[in-house]
Amino acid sequence: MSNKRIIVIGAGASGMMAAGKAAEAEAKVLLLEKMERPCKKILISGQTRCNVTNSKELDDFIITMGPNGRFLYGAFHHYFRDDLLAFLKRYGVETKTEADGRIFPASDNAGDVTNALREYTADHKVQLITDIRATGIKVEGIQVTGVQTDKGAYPAAAVILATGGASYPGTGSSGDGYKIAAALGHTLVRLRPSLVPLIVHETELVKSMQGVSLHDVRLTAYKCQARDINNYPAQTGDCGRGTGHGHPPHPIIASRRGDIIFAHFGISGPLTLQTSLAIVDAMENGPVSVSIDIKPEANEKELDQQLQQEFDQHGKRSYRHILDDLLPHKMVQPFAKLTGIPQEKRANQLSAQERKRLVNSLKSLCFTIKGHLPLDSAMVTAGGVSLDEVDPRTMASRLIKGLYFCGEVLDLDGDTGGYNLQAAFSTGYVAGEQAATFIHTAHPQNM
Ligand SMILES: Cc1cc2nc3c(=O)[nH]c(=O)nc-3n(C[C@H](O)[C@H](O)[C@H](O)COP(=O)(O)OP(=O)(O)OC[C@H]3O[C@@H](n4cnc5c(N)ncnc54)[C@H](O)[C@@H]3O)c2cc1C
Repeated sequence: MSNKRIIVIGAGASGMMAAGKAAEAEAKVLLLEKMERPCKKILISGQTRCNVTNSKELDDFIITMGPNGRFLYGAFHHYFRDDLLAFLKRYGVETKTEADGRIFPASDNAGDVTNALREYTADHKVQLITDIRATGIKVEGIQVTGVQTDKGAYPAAAVILATGGASYPGTGSSGDGYKIAAALGHTLVRLRPSLVPLIVHETELVKSMQGVSLHDVRLTAYKCQARDINNYPAQTGDCGRGTGHGHPPHPIIASRRGDIIFAHFGISGPLTLQTSLAIVDAMENGPVSVSIDIKPEANEKELDQQLQQEFDQHGKRSYRHILDDLLPHKMVQPFAKLTGIPQEKRANQLSAQERKRLVNSLKSLCFTIKGHLPLDSAMVTAGGVSLDEVDPRTMASRLIKGLYFCGEVLDLDGDTGGYNLQAAFSTGYVAGEQAATFIHTAHPQNM
């Protein structure tokens, strides 16, 4: 074992993996964590079930990470899903794949994943210090020499920066790593919230539907005001990040199917989160609106025919009661109000024009986006250390010798579905292995 030391800053998903791997490769490793215990974010991930990865094939997996996903080919070729699942199994964590491809511990317990990582680092004698905050990386010339903390300086021959993003700061990831990297000359790509709920202008409407969840609807985001959406043909296919290589047709930013939830401020749920970064970015250049197609399985003509049949069969019922079969109960009244058709009107009294209005509202319930919840409440931070200055084969800084990066501190972010944790584990593994190789082969001053 080399007596030169590697310091890993941050004991989250990527840092634990990096520390364990570097120590397994016979390096002396010190892991510094500012919270009182490691892996706080993993414990709340996947609603405490921890969605560790996804069954998608490599190319489709990479697409879910947006254009920067290409950076991950090197790390994923070296350490991917099967390696991660084998690692977890080695530490007694069986996993299961759900119908949509998400992979979780069979126990549905995120604690099993953190226990595996803790055992891994302990098995290889990683020294862990908690309640210590790194404030900077010490460098001589262009060579790393140690880490400055709020409790003194620690010499090191290599440093792995694994401080995570800037969202959910209560878990410890409050953006320190960005400042540390920038102080060394690394370029930061602007931070933005990804996987974040959206605020809409139509507050009264969403408030009246608060808590309503819609299953398998289509959400399409447009670069225009809500009132102008109907000028464009209805979107029927998926586009935007995570759906293939094609670019969405103008003025559509993204279109996907999934589940949404109405909140008192706007919209949330997996479908909203998945389209949120595209919307956040597009809002820089003008108004953005979304249209929710509540009945995506039928086109307008088919839906109109279905309604006509319903109205013929139950002509004496108020059309509001018929809506009860089509929508969650809490949504019926606000929706009826939105159509402007008096609620007690009997179904057989609805004119063709009113039926068309109903169809339009079911096929395109529109909201103008006002903003998003703050970065704190985003599941992932987009932006970060520029990938141009990091070697994708080694995770090494191209500017500073002996400096490595892994996890969310990098300008990488993926969809919900286990992609972010897999990226953290894979980049952590590579950074740990390569930092160990570096200290075994390079000959910096004795640390
Ligand atoms: C609510 C929620 C649910 C999520 N669910 C999933 C999911 O199911 N599947 C999925 O793939 N992704 C999920 N994610 C995203 C995923 O958890 C993160 O992308 C991943 O944890 C990033 O790993 P990381 O190692 O880069 O950072 P983190 O896991 O955030 O770890 C960073 C660590 O560095 C420490 N640190 C920070 N600054 C310092 C400092 N100055 N000194 C010392 N230590 C420091 C922090 O305390 C923290 O322990 C979720 C995120 C959130 C917020």
